[in-house]
Amino acid sequence: MSDVVVIGGGVGGLMAAIRLQCTDHDVVVLERLPEFGGKLATYSRDGYHFEIGPSLLTWPKVIDDVFRLAGTSLEREVKLVRLAQPFRYFWPGSGTATFYDDPVATAQSLDGMSPGSGDEYLKFLRHSRKIWEVSERTFFAGPMTGVLSLLRRMRSPRDFMLIDAFRTLWKASRKHFSDPRLRQWLGRYATYSGSSPFESPATLSCIPALEADQGSWYVEGGLGALRDAIVAVAQRVGVQMLPNTEVTGVVTRRGRVTGVRTAQGAEFAAEIVLANVDAEHLYRDLLPQSRRLKKVRKAGRSTSGIVVLVGARGKTEGIAHHNVWFSKDYKREFDEMKRGSLPEEQTIYACVSAVTDSSQAPTNSENWFLLVNVPAGLEVDDEFTNRLLNDLARRGPDLRGRAEFVEMLSPKDFETRYRSSGGAIYGTSSNGMRAAFRRPVNVGPVKGLYLVGGSSHPGGGLPMVTTSARIVSELISTR
Ligand SMILES: Cc1cc2nc3c(=O)[nH]c(=O)nc-3n(C[C@H](O)[C@H](O)[C@H](O)COP(=O)(O)OP(=O)(O)OC[C@H]3O[C@@H](n4cnc5c(N)ncnc54)[C@H](O)[C@@H]3O)c2cc1C
Repeated sequence: MSDVVVIGGGVGGLMAAIRLQCTDHDVVVLERLPEFGGKLATYSRDGYHFEIGPSLLTWPKVIDDVFRLAGTSLEREVKLVRLAQPFRYFWPGSGTATFYDDPVATAQSLDGMSPGSGDEYLKFLRHSRKIWEVSERTFFAGPMTGVLSLLRRMRSPRDFMLIDAFRTLWKASRKHFSDPRLRQWLGRYATYSGSSPFESPATLSCIPALEADQGSWYVEGGLGALRDAIVAVAQRVGVQMLPNTEVTGVVTRRGRVTGVRTAQGAEFAAEIVLANVDAEHLYRDLLPQSRRLKKVRKAGRSTSGIVVLVGARGKTEGIAHHNVWFSKDYKREFDEMKRGSLPEEQTIYACVSAVTDSSQAPTNSENWFLLVNVPAGLEVDDEFTNRLLNDLARRGPDLRGRAEFVEMLSPKDFETRYRSSGGAIYGTSSNGMRAAFRRPVNVGPVKGLYLVGGSSHPGGGLPMVTTSARIVSELISTR
C-alpha cells in the first residue's frame, strides 16, 4: 500500500509527488493517458516540433526548488534559455513594440512607438513589483480558505491596498497608460489565467514585473524537454508512475478516503488521495456524493483556446519567439466571449520557437503555434483554420501559401484529452473580485483528500500549479 495516490500526472501532480516522495511518503501517480505531463504536451510532424500546451516558462525558480529537494537542479536537467527579445506586439494598422529582457530597452522601444510611454512603463513596473512582492509572501505563500487566510499573512493594511484588488485590470490600465495600445498590452495579462481584463482584479498587474525581472524562458529542445525532466526526476526519487490508468472513483469510509478505484477494476488503497484532475471532474465523477460541485461551478471556468499548428516553409521577417497581433476592439472581443460566442475579430498569439531553436523545424522553415482565446465549451468546425489564417494574413504574415500542413485543437479536444470542463485550459478563471476565494481549496471535503493543479488554489499556469504542489505538500506533511 502506498500512503499517497495522485490522480492525474499533470505538472501539479508530478511536482507534489516529487516533494512528498522526498519527504518520506510512498507515492504512486495514476494517469489515464499513455504519457505524463498533462497539458504540458508536444506534437511532432514531418520534422516540425510544437508545444501544444505551454510555450512560455516564467518563474522557473519554483521548479528549481522542487528539483533541488530531489538532489538535482533545473539547470542540470535541462538547457534553459532566457529570451533576450521574448515578445513582439502588433496593433492593427499602427505600431509594433518589442519587449526585451531589459526594462530600459523595452521603454526605449515603447517610446519609439508612442513618445512618453517608456516612462509610463517604467513607473508601472515599480507598481507591478510592489504587487508581486506582497502577493508572493501572502497569496502564493499558503492555502486560501477565505479572505482571512490572506489577511493573516499581510504585514499591515497597507499590503491590502497595495495589491490593487478593488478595481479591474482594465481600469488600472487606463490609469497607468495614456496610449490605448499599452492598455491592451496590460489587459492581455488577464488571459494568462484564462480571464478577462474587464472582470479580473488589477492584482494581475504583478505578472509584467515577474516577466521583466525574472525573465521569459524557453527550454532547448522545446518545453517537452521540461516535461521529460520532471518525469525523470519523479522516477529517480522513487515515485511509482502508472500510465494508462484511469481513476473512476475515490473510495471513502466513515468520512475519510481509503483509496481509489480504476477503470480496470483495481483498487489502490491509500491514506491520502491527491487529485490533480479538474475539480469539476473530481466532484462530478469521482466523488459525486460530495456537495462541492455547485461551489466549484460558481468559481467559473477559465477560457479555452483554439490551437492551430502550421508547418511553414520559409522564414518570416520581424517576428520574435512570442508574438501577439491584437484585435481592434478588446472590449468587444471579451464581451463576445462572455456571451459564449466566437469573437468576430480575435487577438492572435503565435509562438515560433524555431526563431530561437533551429532544431524545432526543418531547415529554412518555421513551426507556428497559433492560439486564440475562446469561451470554454465553444464548438468550432475545421473551417476555423482558414478563417484564422486569412485573419492573420490581413494583420500579419501570410502563411497560406507556405503551409506544408495545418492542424487544429479545439476546446472539445482539450476536454477529451485532459478531462477539463469545456476544455478550460487554465482551470478556474480569475474573473470577479472574489475569484481568488471562490477557487476550489486545496483540502477536500473528506479527510485525506487534497487538490492540486490549475483548478485549485492558486490557479493555472506552470509556476502556479508548481506553487500549488508546494502548498499541498506542506498541508499533507503538517496534517
Ligand atoms: C494551449 C495551452 C497553452 C498554455 N500556455 C501556457 C503557457 O504558455 N505558460 C504556462 O505557464 N501555462 C500555460 N498553459 C497552462 C498550463 O499548461 C496548465 O496550467 C498546467 O500544465 C496544468 O497542470 P495541472 O497540474 O493542473 O494538470 P493538467 O495538465 O490539467 O493534468 C491533469 C492530468 O490528469 C489526467 N486525468 C484526468 N482525469 C483523470 C482520471 N480520472 N484518472 C487519471 N488521470 C486523469 C489528465 O489526463 C492529465 O494528464 C497552457 C495550457 C494550454 C492547454
